[in-house]
Amino acid sequence: MPFALHGIPVSRGVAIGRAHILAPAALDVSHYLVDEDRLEAEVERLRSARAAVRAELITLKRDLPRDAPEEMGAFLDVHAMILDDEALSREPETLILQRRYNAEWALTTRLEELMRQFDEIEDEYLRERKADIEQVVERILKVLAGAPVLAPAPVPTLAPDGEATPGVIVVAHDIGPADMLQFKHTVFHGFVTDLGGRTSHTAIVARSLDIPAAVGVKNASELIRQDDWIIIDGDAGLVIVDPSAIILEEYRHRQSERALEKKRLQRLRHMPAVTLDGLEIELLANIEMAEDAGAALSAGAVGVGLFRSEFLFMNRRDELPDEDEQFHAYRNAVEAMHGLPVTIRTIDIGADKPLDGRGDDFETALNPALGLRAIRWSLSEPGMFLTQLRALLRASAFGPVRILIPMLAHAGEIDQTLDLIEQAKRQLDERGLPYDPGIKVGAMIEIPAAVLLLPLFLKRMDFLSIGTNDLIQYTLAIDRADNAVAHLYDPLHPAVLQLIARTIREANHAGVPVAVCGEMAGDPAMTRLLLGMGLREFSMHPAQLLRVKQEVIHADCERLSKAVDQILNCYEPDELTAALKQLTA
Ligand code: PEP
Ligand code: MG
Repeated sequence: MPFALHGIPVSRGVAIGRAHILAPAALDVSHYLVDEDRLEAEVERLRSARAAVRAELITLKRDLPRDAPEEMGAFLDVHAMILDDEALSREPETLILQRRYNAEWALTTRLEELMRQFDEIEDEYLRERKADIEQVVERILKVLAGAPVLAPAPVPTLAPDGEATPGVIVVAHDIGPADMLQFKHTVFHGFVTDLGGRTSHTAIVARSLDIPAAVGVKNASELIRQDDWIIIDGDAGLVIVDPSAIILEEYRHRQSERALEKKRLQRLRHMPAVTLDGLEIELLANIEMAEDAGAALSAGAVGVGLFRSEFLFMNRRDELPDEDEQFHAYRNAVEAMHGLPVTIRTIDIGADKPLDGRGDDFETALNPALGLRAIRWSLSEPGMFLTQLRALLRASAFGPVRILIPMLAHAGEIDQTLDLIEQAKRQLDERGLPYDPGIKVGAMIEIPAAVLLLPLFLKRMDFLSIGTNDLIQYTLAIDRADNAVAHLYDPLHPAVLQLIARTIREANHAGVPVAVCGEMAGDPAMTRLLLGMGLREFSMHPAQLLRVKQEVIHADCERLSKAVDQILNCYEPDELTAALKQLTA
Protein backbone atom coordinates (compact mmCIF):
# COMPACT_ATOMS: atom_id res chain seq x y z
CA MET A 1 0.00 0.00 0.00
CA PRO A 2 1.43 3.38 -0.93
CA PHE A 3 1.68 5.99 1.79
CA ALA A 4 3.16 9.44 2.03
CA LEU A 5 5.27 11.08 4.71
CA HIS A 6 5.63 14.82 5.04
CA GLY A 7 8.83 16.63 5.88
CA ILE A 8 10.69 19.80 5.09
CA PRO A 9 11.84 20.33 1.50
CA VAL A 10 15.53 21.12 1.47
CA SER A 11 16.88 20.14 -1.89
CA ARG A 12 14.83 20.31 -5.07
CA GLY A 13 14.17 17.62 -7.62
CA VAL A 14 12.76 14.14 -7.73
CA ALA A 15 14.55 10.99 -6.62
CA ILE A 16 13.21 7.51 -7.23
CA GLY A 17 14.81 4.42 -5.84
CA ARG A 18 15.04 1.79 -3.18
CA ALA A 19 15.36 2.82 0.44
CA HIS A 20 18.62 2.16 2.14
CA ILE A 21 18.23 2.52 5.88
CA LEU A 22 21.49 3.84 7.21
CA ALA A 23 22.47 3.27 10.80
CA PRO A 24 24.84 5.69 12.53
CA ALA A 25 27.50 2.94 12.51
CA ALA A 26 27.34 2.82 8.73
CA LEU A 27 27.99 6.51 8.29
CA ASP A 28 31.70 6.03 8.66
CA VAL A 29 32.20 3.56 5.86
CA SER A 30 32.44 4.28 2.18
CA HIS A 31 29.56 3.41 -0.14
CA TYR A 32 30.15 2.73 -3.79
CA LEU A 33 29.17 0.30 -6.51
CA VAL A 34 31.79 -2.18 -7.58
CA ASP A 35 32.49 -2.67 -11.30
CA GLU A 36 30.81 -5.79 -12.70
CA ASP A 37 34.10 -7.46 -13.52
CA ARG A 38 35.50 -6.89 -10.01
CA LEU A 39 32.64 -8.42 -8.05
CA GLU A 40 34.41 -11.71 -7.39
CA ALA A 41 37.49 -9.80 -6.28
CA GLU A 42 35.37 -7.75 -3.87
CA VAL A 43 33.91 -10.95 -2.40
CA GLU A 44 37.48 -12.19 -2.02
CA ARG A 45 38.41 -8.94 -0.29
CA LEU A 46 35.69 -9.55 2.28
CA ARG A 47 36.69 -13.20 2.70
CA SER A 48 40.33 -12.28 3.28
CA ALA A 49 39.31 -9.71 5.87
CA ARG A 50 37.26 -12.33 7.68
CA ALA A 51 40.16 -14.77 7.47
CA ALA A 52 42.46 -12.16 8.99
CA VAL A 53 40.03 -11.63 11.87
CA ARG A 54 39.76 -15.40 12.37
CA ALA A 55 43.56 -15.63 12.60
CA GLU A 56 43.53 -12.73 15.05
CA LEU A 57 41.00 -14.48 17.28
CA ILE A 58 42.98 -17.73 17.21
CA THR A 59 46.16 -15.89 18.23
CA LEU A 60 44.33 -14.05 20.99
CA LYS A 61 42.97 -17.30 22.37
CA ARG A 62 46.34 -19.04 22.15
CA ASP A 63 48.06 -16.20 23.98
CA LEU A 64 45.57 -15.98 26.81
CA PRO A 65 47.41 -16.09 30.12
CA ARG A 66 46.94 -19.34 32.05
CA ASP A 67 45.14 -17.57 34.86
CA ALA A 68 42.77 -15.70 32.54
CA PRO A 69 39.12 -16.14 33.55
CA GLU A 70 37.35 -18.88 31.69
CA GLU A 71 34.85 -16.46 30.19
CA MET A 72 37.62 -14.82 28.20
CA GLY A 73 38.15 -17.93 26.10
CA ALA A 74 34.40 -18.47 25.76
CA PHE A 75 33.99 -14.90 24.62
CA LEU A 76 36.56 -15.39 21.86
CA ASP A 77 34.77 -18.58 20.80
CA VAL A 78 31.51 -16.67 20.52
CA HIS A 79 33.22 -14.10 18.32
CA ALA A 80 34.63 -16.85 16.10
CA MET A 81 31.14 -18.35 15.75
CA ILE A 82 29.64 -14.99 14.86
CA LEU A 83 32.37 -14.46 12.30
CA ASP A 84 31.40 -17.63 10.50
CA ASP A 85 27.69 -17.05 10.69
CA GLU A 86 25.89 -16.72 7.37
CA ALA A 87 24.74 -13.25 8.33
CA LEU A 88 28.31 -11.99 8.12
CA SER A 89 29.57 -14.27 5.39
CA ARG A 90 27.17 -15.51 2.77
CA GLU A 91 24.62 -12.73 3.09
CA PRO A 92 26.98 -9.78 2.59
CA GLU A 93 28.55 -11.70 -0.28
CA THR A 94 25.13 -11.91 -1.91
CA LEU A 95 24.76 -8.16 -1.54
CA ILE A 96 28.10 -7.64 -3.25
CA LEU A 97 27.22 -9.95 -6.12
CA GLN A 98 23.61 -8.91 -6.61
CA ARG A 99 23.64 -5.26 -5.68
CA ARG A 100 27.31 -4.46 -6.39
CA TYR A 101 27.77 -2.95 -2.91
CA ASN A 102 31.37 -2.60 -1.76
CA ALA A 103 32.33 -4.96 1.08
CA GLU A 104 32.03 -2.37 3.85
CA TRP A 105 28.61 -1.29 2.69
CA ALA A 106 27.37 -4.88 2.36
CA LEU A 107 28.63 -5.73 5.82
CA THR A 108 27.12 -2.71 7.57
CA THR A 109 23.82 -3.25 5.76
CA ARG A 110 23.60 -6.72 7.24
CA LEU A 111 24.73 -5.44 10.61
CA GLU A 112 21.94 -2.88 10.62
CA GLU A 113 19.34 -5.56 9.86
CA LEU A 114 20.68 -7.80 12.60
CA MET A 115 20.61 -4.95 15.07
CA ARG A 116 16.95 -4.33 14.31
CA GLN A 117 16.12 -7.99 14.78
CA PHE A 118 18.00 -8.10 18.06
CA ASP A 119 16.12 -5.08 19.37
CA GLU A 120 12.94 -7.10 19.08
CA ILE A 121 14.27 -10.05 21.11
CA GLU A 122 12.88 -10.36 24.64
CA ASP A 123 15.61 -12.62 26.00
CA GLU A 124 18.15 -10.42 27.71
CA TYR A 125 21.09 -12.81 27.26
CA LEU A 126 20.50 -12.98 23.53
CA ARG A 127 19.96 -9.24 23.30
CA GLU A 128 23.35 -8.71 24.85
CA ARG A 129 24.98 -10.63 21.98
CA LYS A 130 24.25 -7.55 19.94
CA ALA A 131 27.39 -5.91 21.25
CA ASP A 132 29.43 -8.98 20.28
CA ILE A 133 28.19 -8.81 16.72
CA GLU A 134 29.05 -5.14 16.54
CA GLN A 135 32.54 -5.85 17.81
CA VAL A 136 33.13 -8.57 15.24
CA VAL A 137 31.93 -6.30 12.44
CA GLU A 138 34.18 -3.53 13.76
CA ARG A 139 37.13 -5.93 13.54
CA ILE A 140 36.34 -6.86 9.94
CA LEU A 141 35.88 -3.21 9.00
CA LYS A 142 39.24 -2.37 10.54
CA VAL A 143 40.96 -5.00 8.42
CA LEU A 144 39.08 -3.80 5.33
CA ALA A 145 40.21 -0.25 6.03
CA GLY A 146 43.80 -1.42 5.68
CA ALA A 147 43.10 -3.44 2.54
CA PRO A 148 43.36 -1.84 -0.89
CA VAL A 149 40.03 -0.61 -2.23
CA LEU A 150 38.93 -1.67 -5.67
CA ALA A 151 38.14 1.15 -8.05
CA PRO A 152 34.55 2.27 -7.64
CA ALA A 153 32.29 2.13 -10.65
CA PRO A 154 30.85 5.37 -12.02
CA VAL A 155 27.70 6.58 -10.31
CA PRO A 156 24.74 5.06 -12.17
CA THR A 157 21.61 6.97 -13.01
CA LEU A 158 18.16 5.59 -13.10
CA ALA A 159 17.00 5.32 -16.67
CA PRO A 160 13.60 6.92 -17.28
CA ASP A 161 12.21 3.51 -18.12
CA GLY A 162 13.32 2.31 -14.71
CA GLU A 163 15.19 -0.64 -16.19
CA ALA A 164 18.66 0.40 -15.10
CA THR A 165 20.17 -0.25 -11.67
CA PRO A 166 17.63 1.33 -9.34
CA GLY A 167 18.71 4.45 -7.46
CA VAL A 168 19.52 4.15 -3.78
CA ILE A 169 17.93 6.60 -1.39
CA VAL A 170 19.38 6.98 2.06
CA VAL A 171 16.94 6.99 4.95
CA ALA A 172 18.44 7.81 8.33
CA HIS A 173 17.44 9.16 11.69
CA ASP A 174 19.92 11.98 11.31
CA ILE A 175 23.04 12.64 9.27
CA GLY A 176 25.71 15.03 10.47
CA PRO A 177 26.87 17.68 7.98
CA ALA A 178 30.36 16.20 7.71
CA ASP A 179 28.95 12.72 7.09
CA MET A 180 26.70 14.19 4.43
CA LEU A 181 29.71 15.71 2.75
CA GLN A 182 31.33 12.28 2.51
CA PHE A 183 28.40 11.23 0.33
CA LYS A 184 29.56 13.55 -2.39
CA HIS A 185 31.05 10.79 -4.47
CA THR A 186 28.72 7.96 -3.63
CA VAL A 187 25.87 6.29 -5.35
CA PHE A 188 23.04 7.80 -3.39
CA HIS A 189 20.27 9.52 -5.30
CA GLY A 190 18.44 11.16 -2.41
CA PHE A 191 18.29 11.62 1.34
CA VAL A 192 15.50 11.38 3.87
CA THR A 193 16.08 12.07 7.56
CA ASP A 194 13.83 12.04 10.61
CA LEU A 195 15.41 15.17 12.04
CA GLY A 196 16.61 18.52 10.70
CA GLY A 197 15.42 21.95 9.66
CA ARG A 198 15.57 23.81 6.35
CA THR A 199 18.85 25.54 7.05
CA SER A 200 20.45 22.91 9.23
CA HIS A 201 23.94 22.32 7.91
CA THR A 202 23.00 18.84 6.81
CA ALA A 203 20.29 20.34 4.61
CA ILE A 204 22.72 22.93 3.29
CA VAL A 205 25.21 20.25 2.32
CA ALA A 206 22.47 18.17 0.65
CA ARG A 207 21.54 21.23 -1.38
CA SER A 208 25.15 21.77 -2.35
CA LEU A 209 25.28 18.18 -3.61
CA ASP A 210 22.21 19.00 -5.72
CA ILE A 211 20.55 15.78 -4.62
CA PRO A 212 16.82 15.73 -3.75
CA ALA A 213 16.34 15.57 0.01
CA ALA A 214 13.68 15.91 2.65
CA VAL A 215 14.50 16.38 6.33
CA GLY A 216 12.33 16.46 9.42
CA VAL A 217 10.34 13.51 8.03
CA LYS A 218 9.42 12.28 11.48
CA ASN A 219 9.80 8.51 12.03
CA ALA A 220 10.81 7.93 8.40
CA SER A 221 13.63 5.63 9.45
CA GLU A 222 11.13 3.50 11.36
CA LEU A 223 8.23 3.54 8.92
CA ILE A 224 10.26 2.90 5.80
CA ARG A 225 11.75 -0.56 5.45
CA GLN A 226 14.97 -1.59 3.82
CA ASP A 227 14.49 -1.84 0.03
CA ASP A 228 11.06 -0.19 -0.05
CA TRP A 229 10.53 1.72 -3.26
CA ILE A 230 10.36 5.40 -2.48
CA ILE A 231 10.03 8.73 -4.25
CA ILE A 232 11.34 11.97 -2.81
CA ASP A 233 9.52 15.03 -4.04
CA GLY A 234 12.24 17.48 -3.04
CA ASP A 235 10.14 20.52 -3.93
CA ALA A 236 7.34 19.59 -1.55
CA GLY A 237 9.31 17.74 1.13
CA LEU A 238 7.17 14.71 0.39
CA VAL A 239 8.27 11.08 0.59
CA ILE A 240 6.04 8.55 -1.14
CA VAL A 241 6.57 4.97 -0.05
CA ASP A 242 5.65 2.01 -2.23
CA PRO A 243 4.18 4.20 -5.00
CA SER A 244 1.65 2.90 -7.50
CA ALA A 245 2.61 2.59 -11.17
CA ILE A 246 0.66 5.76 -12.01
CA ILE A 247 2.44 7.83 -9.36
CA LEU A 248 5.78 6.44 -10.45
CA GLU A 249 5.05 7.43 -14.01
CA GLU A 250 4.07 10.94 -13.00
CA TYR A 251 7.30 11.43 -11.05
CA ARG A 252 9.44 9.97 -13.81
CA HIS A 253 7.89 12.57 -16.06
CA ARG A 254 8.72 15.32 -13.56
CA GLN A 255 12.26 13.98 -13.32
CA SER A 256 12.81 14.30 -17.03
CA GLU A 257 11.23 17.77 -17.12
CA ARG A 258 13.64 18.90 -14.45
CA ALA A 259 16.58 17.44 -16.35
CA LEU A 260 15.44 19.44 -19.38
CA GLU A 261 15.13 22.62 -17.32
CA LYS A 262 18.67 22.14 -16.02
CA LYS A 263 19.92 21.75 -19.55
CA ARG A 264 18.13 24.91 -20.67
CA LEU A 265 19.65 26.86 -17.80
CA GLN A 266 23.12 25.93 -19.01
CA ARG A 267 22.67 28.50 -21.75
CA LEU A 268 22.97 31.23 -19.12
CA ARG A 269 26.40 30.08 -17.98
CA HIS A 270 28.37 32.58 -19.98
CA MET A 271 25.80 35.35 -19.89
CA PRO A 272 26.70 38.28 -17.60
CA ALA A 273 24.42 38.73 -14.58
CA VAL A 274 23.07 42.14 -15.54
CA THR A 275 19.60 43.38 -14.66
CA LEU A 276 17.18 44.89 -17.17
CA ASP A 277 18.19 48.35 -15.97
CA GLY A 278 21.84 47.60 -16.55
CA LEU A 279 23.13 46.85 -13.03
CA GLU A 280 25.88 44.28 -12.74
CA ILE A 281 25.21 41.71 -10.05
CA GLU A 282 27.96 39.53 -8.61
CA LEU A 283 27.01 35.91 -8.24
CA LEU A 284 29.53 34.09 -6.09
CA ALA A 285 29.80 30.53 -4.83
CA ASN A 286 29.55 28.94 -1.40
CA ILE A 287 31.89 25.97 -1.08
CA GLU A 288 32.66 23.45 1.63
CA MET A 289 35.86 22.01 0.22
CA ALA A 290 38.62 23.27 -2.04
CA GLU A 291 37.63 20.76 -4.70
CA ASP A 292 34.21 22.46 -5.01
CA ALA A 293 35.97 25.37 -6.73
CA GLY A 294 35.64 23.53 -10.05
CA ALA A 295 31.84 23.42 -9.72
CA ALA A 296 31.88 27.12 -8.82
CA LEU A 297 33.75 28.00 -12.00
CA SER A 298 31.66 25.83 -14.26
CA ALA A 299 28.49 27.42 -12.90
CA GLY A 300 29.94 30.80 -13.89
CA ALA A 301 30.59 32.14 -10.37
CA VAL A 302 32.74 35.28 -10.29
CA GLY A 303 34.48 34.17 -7.12
CA VAL A 304 33.92 32.33 -3.86
CA GLY A 305 31.82 34.34 -1.42
CA LEU A 306 31.93 31.77 1.38
CA PHE A 307 34.38 28.93 1.88
CA ARG A 308 33.12 27.14 5.02
CA SER A 309 36.55 26.18 6.31
CA GLU A 310 35.19 24.22 9.28
CA PHE A 311 34.54 21.19 7.08
CA LEU A 312 38.30 20.73 6.99
CA PHE A 313 38.24 20.32 10.76
CA MET A 314 35.26 18.02 11.19
CA ASN A 315 35.11 14.24 11.61
CA ARG A 316 38.79 13.96 12.44
CA ARG A 317 39.08 11.90 15.50
CA ASP A 318 42.73 12.69 16.09
CA GLU A 319 44.47 15.98 15.34
CA LEU A 320 43.07 19.12 13.82
CA PRO A 321 44.63 20.03 10.46
CA ASP A 322 47.98 21.73 10.96
CA GLU A 323 49.10 24.94 9.28
CA ASP A 324 50.53 23.23 6.21
CA GLU A 325 47.51 21.05 5.60
CA GLN A 326 45.21 24.05 5.87
CA PHE A 327 47.49 26.17 3.72
CA HIS A 328 47.38 23.57 0.96
CA ALA A 329 43.60 23.34 1.07
CA TYR A 330 43.18 27.12 0.93
CA ARG A 331 45.83 27.49 -1.76
CA ASN A 332 44.16 24.78 -3.82
CA ALA A 333 40.89 26.70 -3.73
CA VAL A 334 42.64 29.97 -4.58
CA GLU A 335 44.57 28.48 -7.49
CA ALA A 336 41.51 26.64 -8.79
CA MET A 337 39.65 29.96 -9.02
CA HIS A 338 42.29 31.37 -11.40
CA GLY A 339 42.56 34.88 -9.99
CA LEU A 340 38.94 35.29 -8.93
CA PRO A 341 38.47 36.34 -5.28
CA VAL A 342 38.09 33.65 -2.63
CA THR A 343 36.46 34.58 0.67
CA ILE A 344 37.50 32.11 3.33
CA ARG A 345 35.54 32.08 6.55
CA THR A 346 37.47 31.23 9.68
CA ILE A 347 36.33 28.11 11.47
CA ASP A 348 32.63 28.20 12.40
CA ILE A 349 32.40 25.19 14.61
CA GLY A 350 29.75 24.37 17.23
CA ALA A 351 25.94 24.09 17.29
CA ASP A 352 25.01 21.57 14.57
CA LYS A 353 28.62 21.36 13.39
CA PRO A 354 30.45 19.63 16.24
CA LEU A 355 34.11 18.92 15.68
CA ASP A 356 34.18 15.15 15.44
CA GLY A 357 30.65 14.76 14.16
CA ARG A 358 29.36 12.70 17.06
CA GLY A 359 29.35 13.91 20.61
CA ASP A 360 32.03 16.15 22.00
CA ASP A 361 32.15 19.18 24.28
CA PHE A 362 30.03 21.15 21.85
CA GLU A 363 27.18 18.69 22.10
CA THR A 364 27.12 18.77 25.86
CA ALA A 365 26.76 22.55 25.81
CA LEU A 366 23.52 23.62 27.46
CA ASN A 367 22.40 25.45 24.37
CA PRO A 368 24.85 24.83 21.55
CA ALA A 369 23.48 27.48 19.18
CA LEU A 370 24.03 30.09 21.87
CA GLY A 371 27.24 28.58 23.15
CA LEU A 372 30.91 28.56 22.38
CA ARG A 373 30.72 28.49 18.59
CA ALA A 374 32.38 30.23 15.64
CA ILE A 375 34.56 33.22 16.54
CA ARG A 376 33.87 32.67 20.24
CA TRP A 377 35.53 29.28 20.05
CA SER A 378 38.39 30.60 17.91
CA LEU A 379 39.13 33.34 20.44
CA SER A 380 39.06 30.81 23.25
CA GLU A 381 41.70 28.74 21.38
CA PRO A 382 44.15 31.42 20.21
CA GLY A 383 46.83 28.87 19.29
CA MET A 384 44.44 27.08 16.92
CA PHE A 385 43.15 30.38 15.57
CA LEU A 386 46.62 31.77 14.87
CA THR A 387 47.46 28.57 13.00
CA GLN A 388 44.42 29.04 10.79
CA LEU A 389 45.15 32.74 10.24
CA ARG A 390 48.74 32.02 9.20
CA ALA A 391 47.52 29.37 6.75
CA LEU A 392 44.96 31.80 5.29
CA LEU A 393 47.52 34.58 4.99
CA ARG A 394 50.00 32.26 3.28
CA ALA A 395 47.35 31.29 0.73
CA SER A 396 46.83 34.99 -0.04
CA ALA A 397 50.25 35.02 -1.73
CA PHE A 398 48.74 32.82 -4.48
CA GLY A 399 45.68 34.87 -5.42
CA PRO A 400 43.07 37.23 -4.02
CA VAL A 401 41.90 36.03 -0.60
CA ARG A 402 39.52 37.73 1.82
CA ILE A 403 39.08 36.64 5.43
CA LEU A 404 35.54 36.40 6.79
CA ILE A 405 34.81 36.19 10.52
CA PRO A 406 31.64 34.38 11.67
CA MET A 407 29.25 35.43 14.44
CA LEU A 408 30.79 38.67 15.60
CA ALA A 409 28.67 40.67 18.03
CA HIS A 410 31.02 42.57 20.34
CA ALA A 411 33.52 45.35 19.72
CA GLY A 412 35.97 43.37 21.87
CA GLU A 413 35.71 40.36 19.56
CA ILE A 414 36.49 42.54 16.55
CA ASP A 415 39.52 44.05 18.31
CA GLN A 416 40.87 40.69 19.43
CA THR A 417 40.38 39.19 15.97
CA LEU A 418 42.12 42.05 14.18
CA ASP A 419 44.97 41.92 16.74
CA LEU A 420 45.43 38.21 16.15
CA ILE A 421 45.51 38.76 12.39
CA GLU A 422 48.31 41.32 12.89
CA GLN A 423 50.11 38.86 15.16
CA ALA A 424 49.83 36.11 12.54
CA LYS A 425 51.31 38.49 9.97
CA ARG A 426 54.27 39.23 12.25
CA GLN A 427 54.84 35.50 12.75
CA LEU A 428 54.98 35.01 8.99
CA ASP A 429 57.34 38.01 8.66
CA GLU A 430 59.68 36.32 11.12
CA ARG A 431 59.62 33.18 8.98
CA GLY A 432 60.07 35.23 5.82
CA LEU A 433 56.87 33.86 4.27
CA PRO A 434 54.89 35.99 1.79
CA TYR A 435 51.24 37.07 2.14
CA ASP A 436 48.98 39.88 0.98
CA PRO A 437 49.65 42.71 3.49
CA GLY A 438 46.44 44.50 2.49
CA ILE A 439 44.24 41.43 2.89
CA LYS A 440 40.62 42.40 3.44
CA VAL A 441 38.86 41.26 6.60
CA GLY A 442 35.07 41.08 6.72
CA ALA A 443 32.36 40.27 9.24
CA MET A 444 29.42 37.94 8.97
CA ILE A 445 26.28 39.75 10.04
CA GLU A 446 24.26 36.99 11.62
CA ILE A 447 23.34 38.21 15.08
CA PRO A 448 20.74 41.00 15.43
CA ALA A 449 23.13 42.81 17.78
CA ALA A 450 25.57 43.19 14.90
CA VAL A 451 22.92 44.96 12.83
CA LEU A 452 22.19 47.33 15.69
CA LEU A 453 25.92 47.95 15.96
CA LEU A 454 26.42 48.52 12.24
CA PRO A 455 28.24 51.87 12.48
CA LEU A 456 31.02 50.12 14.39
CA PHE A 457 31.20 47.22 11.95
CA LEU A 458 31.25 49.59 9.01
CA LYS A 459 34.11 51.53 10.56
CA ARG A 460 36.33 48.59 11.42
CA MET A 461 35.64 45.95 8.80
CA ASP A 462 36.45 45.95 5.08
CA PHE A 463 33.29 44.16 3.98
CA LEU A 464 30.14 42.51 5.33
CA SER A 465 28.41 39.27 4.50
CA ILE A 466 24.91 38.64 5.83
CA GLY A 467 24.43 35.12 7.14
CA THR A 468 20.68 34.94 6.88
CA ASN A 469 20.54 31.37 8.18
CA ASP A 470 21.75 32.40 11.58
CA LEU A 471 20.28 35.89 11.44
CA ILE A 472 16.81 34.31 11.15
CA GLN A 473 17.63 31.79 13.88
CA TYR A 474 18.77 34.45 16.35
CA THR A 475 16.14 37.05 15.47
CA LEU A 476 13.22 34.67 15.83
CA ALA A 477 14.77 32.49 18.56
CA ILE A 478 14.25 29.39 16.40
CA ASP A 479 16.85 26.64 16.43
CA ARG A 480 17.47 26.24 12.70
CA ALA A 481 18.16 22.51 13.05
CA ASP A 482 15.05 21.71 15.10
CA ASN A 483 12.18 20.39 13.01
CA ALA A 484 9.72 20.91 15.88
CA VAL A 485 9.88 24.68 15.33
CA ALA A 486 10.76 24.63 11.63
CA HIS A 487 7.34 26.07 10.70
CA LEU A 488 8.26 29.25 12.57
CA TYR A 489 11.56 29.68 10.75
CA ASP A 490 10.49 32.42 8.37
CA PRO A 491 12.85 34.39 6.12
CA LEU A 492 9.95 36.73 5.32
CA HIS A 493 9.22 37.68 8.92
CA PRO A 494 9.03 41.51 8.93
CA ALA A 495 11.70 41.70 11.66
CA VAL A 496 14.10 39.67 9.55
CA LEU A 497 13.39 41.78 6.47
CA GLN A 498 14.03 44.99 8.44
CA LEU A 499 17.41 43.72 9.65
CA ILE A 500 18.58 42.60 6.22
CA ALA A 501 17.37 45.76 4.51
CA ARG A 502 19.03 47.96 7.11
CA THR A 503 22.36 46.18 6.77
CA ILE A 504 22.35 46.48 2.98
CA ARG A 505 21.22 50.11 3.04
CA GLU A 506 23.82 51.26 5.59
CA ALA A 507 26.66 49.33 3.99
CA ASN A 508 25.81 50.74 0.56
CA HIS A 509 25.60 54.21 2.06
CA ALA A 510 29.03 53.81 3.67
CA GLY A 511 30.50 52.35 0.48
CA VAL A 512 31.37 49.08 2.23
CA PRO A 513 30.82 45.95 0.08
CA VAL A 514 27.99 43.79 1.37
CA ALA A 515 26.85 40.32 0.31
CA VAL A 516 24.29 37.78 1.43
CA CYS A 517 25.76 34.28 1.80
CA GLY A 518 22.93 32.55 3.69
CA GLU A 519 20.48 30.26 1.93
CA MET A 520 18.24 33.22 0.99
CA ALA A 521 20.86 34.25 -1.57
CA GLY A 522 20.46 30.96 -3.45
CA ASP A 523 16.68 30.89 -3.34
CA PRO A 524 15.35 32.28 -6.63
CA ALA A 525 12.11 33.19 -4.85
CA MET A 526 14.11 35.73 -2.80
CA THR A 527 16.25 37.22 -5.58
CA ARG A 528 13.94 40.11 -6.50
CA LEU A 529 13.38 41.01 -2.86
CA LEU A 530 17.11 41.20 -2.17
CA LEU A 531 17.78 43.12 -5.39
CA GLY A 532 15.07 45.58 -4.38
CA MET A 533 16.81 46.04 -1.03
CA GLY A 534 19.91 47.13 -2.92
CA LEU A 535 21.90 43.88 -2.75
CA ARG A 536 24.45 43.48 -5.54
CA GLU A 537 26.48 40.48 -4.27
CA PHE A 538 24.90 37.07 -3.78
CA SER A 539 26.78 33.98 -2.64
CA MET A 540 25.21 30.54 -2.98
CA HIS A 541 25.90 26.93 -3.85
CA PRO A 542 27.02 26.54 -7.45
CA ALA A 543 23.99 24.34 -8.16
CA GLN A 544 21.70 27.30 -7.41
CA LEU A 545 23.54 29.92 -9.41
CA LEU A 546 21.91 29.69 -12.82
CA ARG A 547 18.35 29.80 -11.49
CA VAL A 548 19.23 32.94 -9.54
CA LYS A 549 20.88 34.41 -12.63
CA GLN A 550 17.68 33.80 -14.55
CA GLU A 551 15.84 35.96 -12.01
CA VAL A 552 18.53 38.64 -12.13
CA ILE A 553 18.45 39.12 -15.88
CA HIS A 554 14.68 39.64 -15.79
CA ALA A 555 14.74 42.11 -12.91
CA ASP A 556 14.38 45.86 -12.94
CA CYS A 557 16.04 47.11 -9.75
CA GLU A 558 14.50 50.54 -9.79
CA ARG A 559 11.00 49.14 -9.85
CA LEU A 560 11.88 46.47 -7.27
CA SER A 561 13.29 49.06 -4.91
CA LYS A 562 9.90 50.87 -4.85
CA ALA A 563 8.12 47.58 -4.14
CA VAL A 564 10.54 46.86 -1.30
CA ASP A 565 9.87 50.27 0.27
CA GLN A 566 6.25 49.20 0.54
CA ILE A 567 7.13 45.73 1.84
CA LEU A 568 9.20 47.19 4.63
CA ASN A 569 6.22 49.18 5.82
CA CYS A 570 4.06 46.11 6.22
CA TYR A 571 3.62 44.47 9.57
CA GLU A 572 0.30 42.70 9.07
CA PRO A 573 0.69 39.32 7.31
CA ASP A 574 -2.06 40.05 4.73
CA GLU A 575 -0.55 43.39 3.79
CA LEU A 576 2.88 41.82 3.54
CA THR A 577 1.64 39.03 1.27
CA ALA A 578 -0.01 41.58 -1.01
CA ALA A 579 3.10 43.79 -1.07
CA LEU A 580 5.35 40.82 -1.86
CA LYS A 581 3.19 40.06 -4.89
CA GLN A 582 4.25 43.41 -6.33
CA LEU A 583 7.76 42.00 -6.77
CA THR A 584 6.61 39.61 -9.45
CA ALA A 585 3.79 41.71 -10.90
C1 PEP B 1 24.52 31.81 7.70
O1 PEP B 1 24.38 31.72 8.91
O2 PEP B 1 23.66 32.31 6.95
C2 PEP B 1 25.74 31.29 7.05
C3 PEP B 1 25.99 31.51 5.78
O3 PEP B 1 26.58 30.55 7.79
P1 PEP B 1 26.27 29.04 8.21
O4 PEP B 1 25.05 28.59 7.47
O5 PEP B 1 27.47 28.24 7.89
O6 PEP B 1 26.03 29.16 9.69
MG1 MG C 1 26.08 31.24 10.13
